[in-house]
Amino acid sequence: MAEKISVLISEEAVAEKIHEMAVQISRDYEGRQIHMICVLKGGVFFMTELSKHVGVPCSLDFMSVSSYGNDTVSSGKIKILKDLDESIEGKDVLVVEDIVDSGRTLSYLLEELKQRKPNSLKLCTLLDKPDRRKVDVRVDYTGFAIPDAFVVGYGLDYQQRYRNLPYIGVVEL
Ligand code: 5GP
Repeated sequence: MAEKISVLISEEAVAEKIHEMAVQISRDYEGRQIHMICVLKGGVFFMTELSKHVGVPCSLDFMSVSSYGNDTVSSGKIKILKDLDESIEGKDVLVVEDIVDSGRTLSYLLEELKQRKPNSLKLCTLLDKPDRRKVDVRVDYTGFAIPDAFVVGYGLDYQQRYRNLPYIGVVEL
């Protein structure tokens, strides 16, 4: 069944914001190399676009995690489904996420990555739902703070569909 999707953030606004974030990140990391870690699958569209516009050298790696517990509420205990290919020891790591909701997944993941001794560890997210936060997570770069609604597009899915929408939309159920 096809759901009705209403546009929350247009394709143009997303592209412009990612450009702005890339400029800021390039400034902050001047003279260094960024090791970007994409949390699959949602972060992939954002990371590829962001990395194309970052003006400092970049290397990329991918990680896939799933939360234990039911689908709608993340428990915060994560299972690593696909680990990084490379060590992050001594690297300037930037975790690139699609959305921070309760913060449970990210808080657990950042703790796990910290154990691996990166030189620095920062978090960049395209979307943030601050009203939904249950666990304190330091977000270094945020694209858009959005209200508490279930969004799709630009990597975010509803039952594995709509990831490929070029804008951020709200599913009208
Ligand atoms: P957290 O542990 O912060 O509660 O969970 C974050 C994860 O929940 C995100 O990486 C994403 O997979 C999922 N998520 C949270 N809010 C939304 C939403 O509005 N739409 C979609 N498609 N996924 C969401």
